[in-house]
Amino acid sequence: MAKYDYDLFVIGAGSGGVRAARVAALSGAKVLVAEEHRVGGTCVIRGCVPKKLMVYASEFAHSFETAKGFGWTIDKATFDWTAFLREKDKEIARLSGIYVRNLENAGAELVHGKARLIDAHSVEVEGHGRVTADKILIATGGRPWMPKALKGVEHAISSNEAFHLHELPKRVVVAGGGYIAVEFACIFNGLGVETHLVHRGANILRGFDDDIRTHVAEEMGRRGIKVILSTQHTSIEKTAGGLISRFANEHHCESDVVMFALGREPYVEGLGLETAGVKLDDKGAIEVDDYSKSSVDNIWAVGDVTNRVNLTPVAIREGHAFADTEFNGRPTSFDHDTIASAVFSQPPVGTVGLSEADARHKYGKVDIYLTRFRPMKTAFAGDDERCLMKLVVEEKTQKVVGCHIVGPDSGEMIQMAAIAVKMGVTKPQWDSTCAVHPTLAEELVTLREKYVQPGLGQAA
Ligand SMILES: Cc1cc2nc3c(=O)[nH]c(=O)nc-3n(C[C@H](O)[C@H](O)[C@H](O)COP(=O)(O)OP(=O)(O)OC[C@H]3O[C@@H](n4cnc5c(N)ncnc54)[C@H](O)[C@@H]3O)c2cc1C
Repeated sequence: MAKYDYDLFVIGAGSGGVRAARVAALSGAKVLVAEEHRVGGTCVIRGCVPKKLMVYASEFAHSFETAKGFGWTIDKATFDWTAFLREKDKEIARLSGIYVRNLENAGAELVHGKARLIDAHSVEVEGHGRVTADKILIATGGRPWMPKALKGVEHAISSNEAFHLHELPKRVVVAGGGYIAVEFACIFNGLGVETHLVHRGANILRGFDDDIRTHVAEEMGRRGIKVILSTQHTSIEKTAGGLISRFANEHHCESDVVMFALGREPYVEGLGLETAGVKLDDKGAIEVDDYSKSSVDNIWAVGDVTNRVNLTPVAIREGHAFADTEFNGRPTSFDHDTIASAVFSQPPVGTVGLSEADARHKYGKVDIYLTRFRPMKTAFAGDDERCLMKLVVEEKTQKVVGCHIVGPDSGEMIQMAAIAVKMGVTKPQWDSTCAVHPTLAEELVTLREKYVQPGLGQAA
C-alpha cells in the first residue's frame, strides 16, 4: 500500500502550480491540486490576460486619431465599458476552463478550497478534509500590498477590483510607479478617463533603464496623464462628489476611483508554513534553493510566493523545472538571468538585460547606442510621439548586455532580441544582421554611432 494518498500535492492552480501539476501527472505521478479561487491564478483571472485585453480596448482611441491622418473619418466613436467587461469575463472563463481541462487531461485531480499545511506531509483543504502527500509544492502567488495604516484606505481599490468596476470612472488617481500602476494609468487614460499617476519616487518604473523611465513618463504626459512624482497619499476622504486624495506635498485631487498599485506581497497567509517548518525570508517570501526546494526536504515553492522574478513565464518555467527534477529524472534549475519583459504602457516598453547604470556598475566601461525617432505611421498622422531604442554594450568584450525599447510592438521585438542577448551576442554580430525594411525594428540593427550624452562631450 502506498505510504501517502498522493505523490504530489500542489497548493495553487496558477501559472506555476498548473504547469508543475501537469508535467508531474504526465510522468505518471498521482497529483492533487487545490485552488481556493479560480483555476488560472493571477495571470488568467486578474493579471496579465484581462489587463492585456484592457490595454487593447484602450488603445483604439489613439488608433482612431492616427486613422484620421490617413484619411479616415470616424464619427462619434463611443466605448461601452459594460459590454467590454462582459466579453472580457467570457474570455477569462473560457481560458480558465482550458486550464481545468489541461489538468484533467494530464490526469491530475483538482479540489476547490483553501489548503493549509498540517505537517510536512499533510494538507487540509477547507471543506474537504485532510490528505497526505509525499511531495508538496506551494504555488500560491502574491497579492496587492495596501497601505493599511493610511487614513481612508478602505475607499481605495487594488488592481484586483479594477477589473470589475461597475462603471468606468470619469476621474481616477492611480498611486504607484511600478509597471502595474503605469499600465493601468495608460488604460484609464486611453478610455477617456481623466488620469493622475502619483508616485513617491523621483521617476516611474524603478529598476528599468533611466532613459526608458524618463521617456515613458514624458510620453504618458504627452498623451494627457498627469504624472505627479515625489509625493504620496496622506489620506483619502469620501465626499458627496467623489474621493479626495491628499498628498504629502500639500496638494489634493478629486476623483471617482483611487487605485493603489504600490507593490505585491507573497501570499502565505493561513498556509500553516510555520507548523511544517517552512522558512520565509525578510520580505515574507518562501526561501528556496536553485531547484525551488524550501527549508523542508519534501516541500518546494515556485512563482511569486518565492519573490524571485515575479512574471508568469518565470513561474511556469520554475514549475516545469521542479517537475522535471522530481518526476522526470532530469535535474533542472531555471536560469533567472537575462529575462526579457514588457510594460504594456502606451507606448509600450520591451527590455532585456542590464540597464546602463547596472552595466556601468558591473563592467565599469560600457558603450551606449541610442536613438529617438518618430515612427513612420504616427509621424505621417502628425503625431509627435517618439520611439526610443538603446543598446548597452560591455566595452571590453563588445557583448550586448542590455537592449531597451519604447515604442509600438516593443514587447514583440524584445522577445526576439532576447534570444541574441541571452546567447551572448556581440555588437559586431548584431551589426552583421541585415535590416528588415521598412520596420521600426530595423533601427535596432542600424545603430552605428556611439551615443554621447548631451553636455558630457565624451562617453561617460
Ligand atoms: C495586474 C497584473 C498584471 C500582470 N501582468 C503581467 C504581465 O503582463 N506579464 C507577466 O509575465 N506577468 C504579469 N503579472 C504577474 C503574473 O500574473 C504573476 O507573476 C504570475 O501569475 C505568478 O504565478 P504564480 O503561479 O506564482 O501565482 P498565481 O498565478 O497568483 O497563482 C496562485 C494561485 O494560488 C491560489 N491560492 C493561494 N493560496 C491558496 C491556498 N492556501 N489554497 C488554495 N489555493 C491558493 C490563488 O487563488 C491563485 O489562483 C501581472 C500581475 C498582475 C497583478
